[in-house]
Amino acid sequence: MSSHFDLIAIGAGSGGLSAAERAAEYGKKTAVIENNKLGGTCVNIGCVPKKVMWFASGIAETIHNASGYGFDVDLRGFSWEKLIEARESYIKGILDWYGNYLADSNIRHLQGTGRFVDAHTVEVEGKRYTADHIVIAPGGKPVIHDIPGAEHMLTSDGFFALKQQPKRVAVVGAGYIAVELAGLLNGLGSEVSLLLRKDQFLSSFDAMLRETLMEEMLNAGVNIMPRINIERVEKREDGCLDIFCVGGVRLEGYDALICAIGREPNIEPLNLDAASVHYNERGYIPTDEFQQTNVEGVYAVGDVTGRAQLTPVAIAAARRLSDRLFNNMPDRKLDYSNIPTVMFSHPPIGTIGMSEDEAREKHGDAVKVYQTRFTAMYHALSPHQQRTAMKLVCVGAEEKVVGCHIIGMGADEMLQGFGVAIKMGATKKDFDNCVAIHPTSSEELVTMR
Ligand code: FAD
Ligand code: NDP
Repeated sequence: MSSHFDLIAIGAGSGGLSAAERAAEYGKKTAVIENNKLGGTCVNIGCVPKKVMWFASGIAETIHNASGYGFDVDLRGFSWEKLIEARESYIKGILDWYGNYLADSNIRHLQGTGRFVDAHTVEVEGKRYTADHIVIAPGGKPVIHDIPGAEHMLTSDGFFALKQQPKRVAVVGAGYIAVELAGLLNGLGSEVSLLLRKDQFLSSFDAMLRETLMEEMLNAGVNIMPRINIERVEKREDGCLDIFCVGGVRLEGYDALICAIGREPNIEPLNLDAASVHYNERGYIPTDEFQQTNVEGVYAVGDVTGRAQLTPVAIAAARRLSDRLFNNMPDRKLDYSNIPTVMFSHPPIGTIGMSEDEAREKHGDAVKVYQTRFTAMYHALSPHQQRTAMKLVCVGAEEKVVGCHIIGMGADEMLQGFGVAIKMGATKKDFDNCVAIHPTSSEELVTMR
């Protein structure tokens, strides 16, 4: 079997698989190199298992809310083991599908770690493969706190491997993963402390979103502890963890401590220097707007580029790259502006574009903000009255919508369509010209005054 390819992707996650799949659709000879499971982070230890757990936590919430609708329901039990078994079986189905898809699409799957020999040659398990185009898509891995006792901490990877539900758990961090895991564990009945090193979480999000979420998480029983900087972790004889923090604060008796303080790119085994591919001091590989690295014929997509670390971004960049390389579309590239994103918190957040603070910094007095806060009809009858809040950030006389921020039930499914409108340059008037759908929460987005 020839070992020369039109395209080789290093990493068979969201980005690498998408580059290879699209190239194969154009009849190109392609291969993906993977040293773990097909599907990468998203399928195995990211979006997919997380969303299953988020659904489960939402079901618990619904059961608690049912009494308001006249149901006499007691939550008699919850089996973490059963949920994990069902989740992993679902993921196995996706992986089996990928395996068959690669075989059917004639994409060669090389199992092992890919390592550059030169800009057109990669070595896997002692064998060398060459390609005209090599796409670097190795993703990232969790950063681990550099403190004594760090070995007792879990990362999100370890969280997904938990065989039993932690009854008392602390989560350290202030980003997507910390907030999502704290929320879903709380919903499933664990006692959760969320340890922030500052006063707030989600610092890059619009203030309305983070303040409303903070309120809702506190109401739901998450113990959010600001200004906690951990110094050391100790494991007791009974297996419980004690956390020692700056200023003498001591938090005792946790059965799990999850560290979610960011991720770093997976570049060590790649031997990038052999191909003269540049990377920055944090290990990210810079590319131009066409995903091209500093070396001709070598590209990078996905988390390793350090831009918008989201699955659909990796997929979109990779597909466009293969369109450009193999389908005579020389201008095809991903526009990284206005990327919608959802935080699967309780309640969820959907957000796109500039926060109000960012817009005011850039456009000053030309900014006009519309916002609303209400109890969604669903919650009007439920014992736990969760708030919904929405904000449109508009700029200029024509009131172009440059930011749309939603927190509340359904925000996760609401944003995609509004994202299309914003990407097309919609103004507040365009929003208002769309007749509302009643009774929904999203109708507020086209009726705000
Ligand atoms: P990955 O999917 O990480 O794939 C890289 C692959 O390369 C891996 O399989 C790895 O094993 C392999 N690899 C690495 N180095 C080598 C090598 N040298 N040789 C061979 N193989 C190698 N994004 C969303 O959009 N929505 C979400 O809800 C969401 N939830 C998330 C939840 C969690 C807990 C985490 C951690 C991430 C989440 N993300 C989410 C982010 C999303 O998973 C990533 O942005 C996405 O997976 C990046 O794709 P990628 O192709 O760059 O890398
Ligand atoms: P993030 O970069 O989102 O957040 C990490 C945060 O942790 C930092 O912003 C920082 O906040 C805090 N932090 C950093 N160092 C420390 C420290 N030493 N001690 C305490 N806190 C610290 O990283 P995540 O790991 O949460 O997620 C990685 C990426 O994965 C996300 O950015 C996102 O792109 C993707 N993802 C997407 C999801 C989705 O789409 N729903 C879900 C999960 C992940 P501060 O400076 O404020 O303290």
